[in-house]
Amino acid sequence: MKVRHLLVYCYFCPDCRHRAGGVQQIAGPLLYGLTKYGNWEVTVAHVGLCNAPDHHEIVEDPFKNNANGELEPESLQRLTSQLQTLSKEADVILCIDRVVPLNPKVPAVLMSNTAAYSAEAFALLSNCWSCVIVPSEHFRRCVLAINPTLNVQVIPYGLDQSIVNHITNLPRPKSNCSTVIARLPHRPDRRKGHDVAIEGLALHPPTDLSIHLEIAWLPETRYESFRQELVDLIKSHRLEDKVSFVNWLNEDERWEALSRTHAVLQLGVFEETFGLGVVVAVISGRLAITTAQPAVREVLRGSSLHMELDDGYRWCIALERGLSVFQKTEKEREHHQIIEGLSLERMVAAYEKIFEIVLQRKGND
Ligand SMILES: [Zn+2]
Repeated sequence: MKVRHLLVYCYFCPDCRHRAGGVQQIAGPLLYGLTKYGNWEVTVAHVGLCNAPDHHEIVEDPFKNNANGELEPESLQRLTSQLQTLSKEADVILCIDRVVPLNPKVPAVLMSNTAAYSAEAFALLSNCWSCVIVPSEHFRRCVLAINPTLNVQVIPYGLDQSIVNHITNLPRPKSNCSTVIARLPHRPDRRKGHDVAIEGLALHPPTDLSIHLEIAWLPETRYESFRQELVDLIKSHRLEDKVSFVNWLNEDERWEALSRTHAVLQLGVFEETFGLGVVVAVISGRLAITTAQPAVREVLRGSSLHMELDDGYRWCIALERGLSVFQKTEKEREHHQIIEGLSLERMVAAYEKIFEIVLQRKGND
């Protein structure tokens, strides 16, 4: 079978160890899978620091100084020229969450993971895509409401089998611990409900439990003022000994943190398009307590470990009630079905199929 060439544009290094969000954890294994299981030779072009300088092309970032909306036109021109050169041999271009200057001769596919940030949302306003791939049916509907002319296909995220094995073999949390740990595994974003989690602990505390709230944190300058707001909130409720910040963890450290966790929380207004952190927690046998999250519900197929609340401030009460779920063994079967839907091989095969379709359609034009 003829080897195809895929040019991927990414706004981070897919081999980065510091994996701050869902897409950072999914893109690397997807591209590796396309080479390993598929029939694709992959060239990755990205901005910023690279963890695999022998394999990746570093391209211009015209947006690097755009805190005030400024952009360098010369830099954009250089990026256009770089991508024209890199795409000469490409059969398909895959862009991760960004619209960039494309080669009109080569069909382009967008992997869209959110519309909650400006660069990601602008990519969805472009009509240059042969196809847009999203991780859930729920997000597909959102994308079509933004731009009804797009061809949008759903491919749920895939996890490598070794990761699935590791997560599903983590020991189940005990329901009779003296202190129960609830964790916020999200990047610092005011919309993810950090304040609701803290205030809920103060306003509606548990009746028979001791709960400790653990907040995963990215120690970056841009998040410092948000952290100070949360520290002030914690102090105002005298919760200093019940809430702690833990610096962002990667790989094994992250699983270790998950193994001591009883529940993860997402109590904000931010609507997840897949909710990887929450989904991973549930397949490891933890509770996920969230406000309304239709995409997470879709991926988890209504698992009883996912508790959706009308009032996020009452999460401690839900946690007390939910701890009894751990003892129910009939949940195992339900989890197998969720996990089967999250296979990396399935994800890779589905991407390949879409690349072949857009390539064929381009050939027929
Ligand atoms: Zn790289």
